[in-house]
Amino acid sequence: MTAAAAHRSGRTAVPPGVVARVVLGAVLVVNLLIVELLFFTSGGGKNSVLTVAKFFGLHVALIMMLQLTLVARLPWLDRRIGMDRLTSWHRWVGFSLLWTVVLHATFIVVGYATLDGKPVGRTFLSLAAVPASLLGMCAAAIIIAMATVSVRYIRRRLRYETWHALHMLMYLALLLGLVHQFLEGTTFTASALSTAYWWALWAFVVVSLIVGRIVVPLRRNAYHQLRVSAVVPESDNVVSVHVTGRHLDRLPARAGQFFIWRFPGHNHWTRANPFSLSAAPDGRTLRLTAKAVGDTSTGLRHLPVGTRVFAEGPYGAFTTLHQVKDATLLIAGGVGVTPIRALLEESTGSTVVLYRVQTAADAVLLPELQALAQSRGAQLHVLTGRTGAGTPPNTPFAPDDLLALVPDITDRDVYVCGPPAMTTAVLKTLRTLKVPRAQIHAEKFSLA
Ligand SMILES: Cc1cc2nc3c(=O)[nH]c(=O)nc-3n(C[C@H](O)[C@H](O)[C@H](O)COP(=O)(O)OP(=O)(O)OC[C@H]3O[C@@H](n4cnc5c(N)ncnc54)[C@H](O)[C@@H]3O)c2cc1C
Repeated sequence: MTAAAAHRSGRTAVPPGVVARVVLGAVLVVNLLIVELLFFTSGGGKNSVLTVAKFFGLHVALIMMLQLTLVARLPWLDRRIGMDRLTSWHRWVGFSLLWTVVLHATFIVVGYATLDGKPVGRTFLSLAAVPASLLGMCAAAIIIAMATVSVRYIRRRLRYETWHALHMLMYLALLLGLVHQFLEGTTFTASALSTAYWWALWAFVVVSLIVGRIVVPLRRNAYHQLRVSAVVPESDNVVSVHVTGRHLDRLPARAGQFFIWRFPGHNHWTRANPFSLSAAPDGRTLRLTAKAVGDTSTGLRHLPVGTRVFAEGPYGAFTTLHQVKDATLLIAGGVGVTPIRALLEESTGSTVVLYRVQTAADAVLLPELQALAQSRGAQLHVLTGRTGAGTPPNTPFAPDDLLALVPDITDRDVYVCGPPAMTTAVLKTLRTLKVPRAQIHAEKFSLA
């Protein structure tokens, strides 16, 4: 990539995603080492089983803090790693938290039962009568309940808002866990240094959550005062919502990013839906384009002009910040065209756009794409037809077909956004064609 192009997009020699992963990994390793040191220097439990329980208890605290940091929506991490990946890590860290909690609780009960020579059930009840232990039990119960509703089978059957509201109980678990650790954790008070360490860690997590999830969104919305300025139907089931506000040039949004939108006054304030920007932010307006799939997205068509908008964001790493080559291939499927349309506005070098739809009539925003492609000298291919139909079968994203359309694909950054099945197929083909991983960028329209 030329130095000028790199400067324009804010790109650096080391990919920002790599920097963020290294920083996150290093912070984690350092904290793990400190926790191991605290464990080995603070003495064992009253018996060997309780020593093991203590080991797991310390790790519960650390994992919980990692778990919460991943979803604190820290702009630095989000822009570099992306909310989809961070929430996916949060999900897997959540399951390791569950098993560590279960092991900690089991070893505690078994350890005390052995120590007192009582049955496990009786020991459990007597521990529940001790306030500090009871707090830990309540925190564990919330973590187990959250992990249960997050199992894909159950999660899919719950409304997003219901699942999200239940998930908020994790903040209660955090509070109970902190008090439990403060009252019962021997390493918390083992030395002035270890007390300072734990307080610093908890303070970092709590402040990150408050800043990322409350202060930044409230401040941004109070400052920008967003309102709906126009509602434009793009087709029978797709609508664009234009939003204006004060000083939008100071909003650090980029093409390819998304916001979590609320329309209080029109919808209940708990309704919050992620939609990408379907045009690059121009400092005066923001635009989202939504396909009607459920109540909120269908209702956007009836938003009155002037409706107050509360937007959390911008979020996401599907931006040219991560571009490593000068040339670009943008692949959109269906309504996945929204961030692709915005990215096309920002693309500078040689650009090819592939837009996959069943029929040309389904290609929303096509006139805009055509005009943009023409003004930027980009090639645009609209790929229609049912996948697998005809002879030879219609397989636009099979390796040979994709290579025929874009022969220099390995020299391009590839941005793909579309239905999950299409995105998966494209990613598989890119791997087959040996497109380097650093050049592949995908937005899945789903958060774990
Ligand atoms: C990063 C991202 C960007 C997106 N960009 C666009 C876009 O530009 N255009 C577009 O048409 N669609 C986009 N989507 C999909 C869009 O968010 C959903 O289609 C929409 O939220 C459906 O809401 P609903 O109330 O109409 O339907 P519902 O029936 O309530 O929801 C349908 C599905 O949408 C998902 N969903 C709903 N609310 C949320 C939420 N707050 N967070 C995460 N998932 C949720 C759930 O998985 C749910 O099963 C995007 C999704 C993500 C994650």
